[in-house]
Amino acid sequence: MEEIETILINEEILKSFISCHRKAFLIEEEIQRNGISLPDLDDGRTFAANYVGMQLVVKVDEFVTIDGEKTAVLDIRSKTIRERHKILASFLAFIMSLNEFDMAIAIKTTEELRRIYPRKEKAERLLSSMKEVFSGPSPHPTFSFACRNCPFHNDCVKFASEKGDISMINGVGQGRKKALEKAGYSNVKEISRANPETLSKYMGISVAQAEKIVLQARSVSTSKWFLIDKNKKVPDRTTEYFFDVEKAADETYLLGVLLKTKKKTVYKYFILLEEEWEEEWENFLNFVKLHPRSPIYHYDVFDRNVIEKFGFLSHKSVKNVLNRLEDLYAIITHSFILPVRFYSLKDVARTVGFEWRLEDLNGYEAMKLLTEWKEKRDEEILEKIAMYNEDDCRALLAVKEKIGKILNSY
Ligand code: SF4
Repeated sequence: MEEIETILINEEILKSFISCHRKAFLIEEEIQRNGISLPDLDDGRTFAANYVGMQLVVKVDEFVTIDGEKTAVLDIRSKTIRERHKILASFLAFIMSLNEFDMAIAIKTTEELRRIYPRKEKAERLLSSMKEVFSGPSPHPTFSFACRNCPFHNDCVKFASEKGDISMINGVGQGRKKALEKAGYSNVKEISRANPETLSKYMGISVAQAEKIVLQARSVSTSKWFLIDKNKKVPDRTTEYFFDVEKAADETYLLGVLLKTKKKTVYKYFILLEEEWEEEWENFLNFVKLHPRSPIYHYDVFDRNVIEKFGFLSHKSVKNVLNRLEDLYAIITHSFILPVRFYSLKDVARTVGFEWRLEDLNGYEAMKLLTEWKEKRDEEILEKIAMYNEDDCRALLAVKEKIGKILNSY
């Protein structure tokens, strides 16, 4: 991003920078590509300033008076004040002071309004490191749990795999990556050939953990699956259910179920609104009880938690449903090493050739769409979420077929 004249630093970029330099860089790159559009600076709540080639913008959520002093408030809409919120408050104070406009700053959580003493020097240091990053080449990805919902996820995985970047190895976070680089390993291939005992010493981990990292690197560099435990089996029945849940920002859920019988597959979804869920919950239970002994495949613990939640709320036993749940994530991570950075359903299903019809959508986007649908009740939005959810269920089916074939052959 060498030709930048003005770098825009706003709240979104600042927050992203704190969690991932690359994310902030890619957002900035998009802004530069599409042109900088500044928010309304005359609304009395937006503050902007030019600072060493950077256009700084921040918005105050409201002004209140605390102990007789006018105070600018940042509403963080969460319970706990974290370091990133304090940095944002410092950033606000810094911009205000550049406008010769000093004011007390407070953070509003869901529970309280707390005065914050900003550290302007910290904001200044952060801005100078942002300028350095944005003026250089795109940073390498630093994968973390947050990447699962990041819009740049595919881009980062592609970038890292083309470069053979160490962070492509599942189980290697920022700390381990640094330790590996310090020990002289610079890419996935080198780690795939490493001696686990040597690696365990360099990284301060057990030999078993190091063996897993070496195998994971081998899998990524060869695109091969490795079977590490043959003991788990996958129930194989003619009639099976595949179940996946989408959640809105509130307690509204879309429960999607694909029923596969000998003759056909049928997909249905049930929308349990926060304020009205009883009837649809009942409909969902009736549907999964049509074949009361058939397994219900799902992925990871969230779907189980949702069944438990509504079972609890309805005061009815859901034992029959819970006992039939088969968590494919648990089976996969116990039995295989796969050529994926994350063991998300999306990454795993792609290794068996499954593709989503709406390839740009992820769980986070689906959550936003369900929230939007709830407000607007727009049929097109609902169709989109249902299509995405149906593909999640079909992805479960594709993955189950593949791992069932391998595990059940032993
Ligand atoms: S996917 Fe992860 S590494 Fe890539 S930009 Fe997003 S948060 Fe950063």
